[in-house]
Amino acid sequence: VVELQSVHKRFGNNHVLRGVSFAVRRGEVVAIIGKSGSGKSTALRCINRLEQIDEGQISVCSHAVHADGLDLRTLRRDVGIVFQSYNLFPHLTVLQNITLGPTAVKRMPAAQANTLAQDVLTRVGLSDKAQAYPEQLSGGQQQRVAIARSLAMQPQLMLFDEVTSALDPELTGEVLKVMEQMAAEGMTMILVTHEMGFARRVADQVIFMHQGQVWEQGGPDILDQPATAELRQFVGTGL
Ligand code: ATP
Ligand code: MG
Repeated sequence: VVELQSVHKRFGNNHVLRGVSFAVRRGEVVAIIGKSGSGKSTALRCINRLEQIDEGQISVCSHAVHADGLDLRTLRRDVGIVFQSYNLFPHLTVLQNITLGPTAVKRMPAAQANTLAQDVLTRVGLSDKAQAYPEQLSGGQQQRVAIARSLAMQPQLMLFDEVTSALDPELTGEVLKVMEQMAAEGMTMILVTHEMGFARRVADQVIFMHQGQVWEQGGPDILDQPATAELRQFVGTGL
């Protein structure tokens, strides 16, 4: 579903991705970990072309993401992304936040979009919040609405960038639970996370990034038996 081949990305003189290659199969959950500044978010943002790469190739759901002729609209329809900040529209209800994509982008009839929105809200455990406004919800609830909004576009791939980092520990759990359930339902997911317990439990593949490279890669057991000093130190300090 996803393949990165020797991807390079520079911001001016800052060579942020230095030959990143990895592949993700359908239904796989991949956790990207690593120190601050190692290029995790940049790698994720390159996958749906929020950033354009300088060298290499990225293929996502049969889109050549690096290519000039890329159809951004269909790429973004196939790939959902959720960030640390939820970016919900404050003046719209939860339901309206969720139906906006399907009606505006996919031209889905309103009644069908409403049914779909109720369905995804149920999946994230918020079926009773359809008429609420974002400010009336907790951070964890808002983040689950953001996930529901992505799910309503029926993506083939979901990207998550530290979606629980801004949440209190008690709210983190409810969001992780939703993600774990999505994984169990077979969603292909790539997530940048500091939640090592979650990575151990849910990830099929763990990618440790260091200085813009895939430094170590394998099953979750690499967290318990790091091959490199850098991963050993990262796991030890948890930073
Ligand atoms: P964190 O754990 O802190 O989120 P990260 O691994 O996600 O870190 P990135 O956000 O990918 O790291 O950043 C990697 C490097 O790229 C950093 O040196 C950062 O300053 C730089 N960078 C990221 N985005 C931009 C940008 N839009 N313009 C310029 N430099 C950027
Ligand atoms: Mg980041």
